[in-house]
Amino acid sequence: MNLIFLGPPGAGKGTQAGRLCDDTGWANVSTGDLLREAVADKTDPGRKADEFMNAGKLVPDDLVVEMVARRLQEPDCAKGFVLDGFPRTVVQAEMLHKTLDELKKKLDAVLYFNTGRDTIVKRLSGRRMCPKCNANYHLTNIPPKVEGVCDRCGVELYQRDDDKPDTILKRIEVYEEQTAPLIAFYRERGSLKELDGNLEVVEGQAAIRDALRELSN
Ligand code: AMP
Repeated sequence: MNLIFLGPPGAGKGTQAGRLCDDTGWANVSTGDLLREAVADKTDPGRKADEFMNAGKLVPDDLVVEMVARRLQEPDCAKGFVLDGFPRTVVQAEMLHKTLDELKKKLDAVLYFNTGRDTIVKRLSGRRMCPKCNANYHLTNIPPKVEGVCDRCGVELYQRDDDKPDTILKRIEVYEEQTAPLIAFYRERGSLKELDGNLEVVEGQAAIRDALRELSN
């Protein structure tokens, strides 16, 4: 299946996309991960994106769309993909659909994770990430087996700069202004499926499985 995971930062999109893709073999396409890799590799797009990301702002549309268009042509996307954190503006959504037409791919559904502000702040401030495999952990909700160390890679986890308190609030504001309009955009097109983003990881996984089962019937 080809899916979009839509929702505010801290909705659990990354965690759930990772688990779903591990289970199904679909490609996990996270623009945040792609951008962080570009920043770490000091590529041209990475250099451009860095200051926007640190300020909790959105990176320019054309830069992100080009990255996604290239990524969707990689062989692992043929079986299915989950777009996590993209599109984030109506312009990106329009550019995405043009790209999908050109690639002769179709979107099956948009899963929208409706999440309360308290949940968002709690999740983001306790989030820790693996710099190698991009797995998400949480100090209390999803702790690693050994404190501070990735279960899979054995490397030290880190806290993203943009998960610090000031930037968290900015990111929520940016989401509400620029990304939330996509809820109506996809609802009008009949492709939106709303889920409760406040659920714990395992309950959230079950809700996604049920939604996908319903969609394929
Ligand atoms: P995320 O990992 O999805 O929370 O994204 C981290 C940061 O990367 C965001 O706060 C933005 O600065 C940037 N970013 C990720 N995806 C997009 C996107 N689709 N459009 C613009 N900026 C993005």
